[in-house]
Amino acid sequence: MSHLTDSQLQSLADGTLRGPEGLGAREHCEGCAECGAELSIYAALSGQLSTLRDPEPPTDFTATVLAAVQVREAQLVTRRHTLLAAIPAFALALFAIVGWALNAQVNHLIDGVSVARTVWSAVGPVFAAVRVPLGIGAFLFLAVVLTALSRTLRPVYARLTAGS
Ligand SMILES: [Zn+2]
Repeated sequence: MSHLTDSQLQSLADGTLRGPEGLGAREHCEGCAECGAELSIYAALSGQLSTLRDPEPPTDFTATVLAAVQVREAQLVTRRHTLLAAIPAFALALFAIVGWALNAQVNHLIDGVSVARTVWSAVGPVFAAVRVPLGIGAFLFLAVVLTALSRTLRPVYARLTAGS
């Protein structure tokens, strides 16, 4: 019988080579000094490997992960609140923009209608005077809402990050 291969020796050492093949291999190792020496090396390695254990995680591992998750959740909540608070401001801004577009559209439409034009000539300047303050007001409102929101949420966020 020829010498055993490395994989045969390893299988024999960790006990996965069984049956007639395993029996023949073991018999060969008992008669062959070269394979016997290699088998004893693999057996020693296999024994040492089985004594290895998974490394222990640090004791504060769970706490650290939980704190990180909490901070992440706080960030998500903050973002959600910001979005919710921004919706009315955006709606107002949209209203101003739509009003502006509508104003231009109506001006165009009314060109051929003299009576309506008379009415519009009275109302038009009012719209024209109002649309710019309306737009500015919408954006100011958005700025105020965002500032107030960041003021109220900052202590909560600071408390969470200080605890980690
Ligand atoms: Zn051999």
